[in-house]
Amino acid sequence: MPLQIVHHPDYDAGFATSHRFPMSKYPLLMETLRARGLAGAGALNTAEPAPASWLKLAHAADYVEQVISCSVPEKIEREIGFPVGPRVSLRAQLATGGTVAAARLALRHGIACNTAGGSHHARRAQGAGFCTFNDVAVASLVLLEEGAAHNILVVDLDVHQGDGTADILGDEPRVFTFSMHGERNYPVRKIASDLDVALPDGTGDAAYVERLDSILPELSAGARWDIVFYNAGIDVHAEDRLGRLSLSDKGLRARDRMVVGHFRALGIPVCGVIGGGYSIDVPALAARHAVLFEVASGYA
Ligand SMILES: [Zn+2]
Repeated sequence: MPLQIVHHPDYDAGFATSHRFPMSKYPLLMETLRARGLAGAGALNTAEPAPASWLKLAHAADYVEQVISCSVPEKIEREIGFPVGPRVSLRAQLATGGTVAAARLALRHGIACNTAGGSHHARRAQGAGFCTFNDVAVASLVLLEEGAAHNILVVDLDVHQGDGTADILGDEPRVFTFSMHGERNYPVRKIASDLDVALPDGTGDAAYVERLDSILPELSAGARWDIVFYNAGIDVHAEDRLGRLSLSDKGLRARDRMVVGHFRALGIPVCGVIGGGYSIDVPALAARHAVLFEVASGYA
């Protein structure tokens, strides 16, 4: 069976190409996956919008209603980084529904990936940092509520700290949040995860991979995890506009292999989400995001 991929054309909310958020990476990622033979028949699943009842497990009810009705206060929209109009609202509901769907597919098949997700700066009260809803937090709480999972591990390797996920899941003992990120990257005020590893600017492949290699056994020994959510943000790359950790293409692939390989060898289901990636060169971004899918397909 091919790697199960969850996607929706409306993950692309159609921003101008000059926007700081490179929205066109979503359709380009799909083109790349098709070109690499990863998006054939039997691989693709269409995301459905997350219902409000799921979103409210992780977010304040008034904020969920504001996003759904496109009436988010301007102050919050500025913190998010774009206005929440109908396309952004739909995109946020779809991306979250997509991560829930990918998590369910991962539980069934061992591994699955969403072609969006990893909106880890969205906190309980509101969105921030290009993140409207926190898809991984919502999916974790949906699985717990349904009894589909009892112990959940979040491995967040996006270059930015997973402050929103920590905020939402801080009081939830059944979810362990791990974030390894650039110490000097956004957000300035970090919210403590269950385990945070802050790395210095210019860390590079060797030191990064060595650090990860020492932490993964510690994480997997923490509990009998029913599922791992892996935020494979590519803003750790040297050519990323926002990242500071200076990984190469080779380092990025080694990282993904290490994480996916580690948990799959233990029989733990892995749900991959793409996380952040910011570059003017959008085809290069799409190719970097495709690495997660290439690596994951080796374990499908
Ligand atoms: Zn990021």
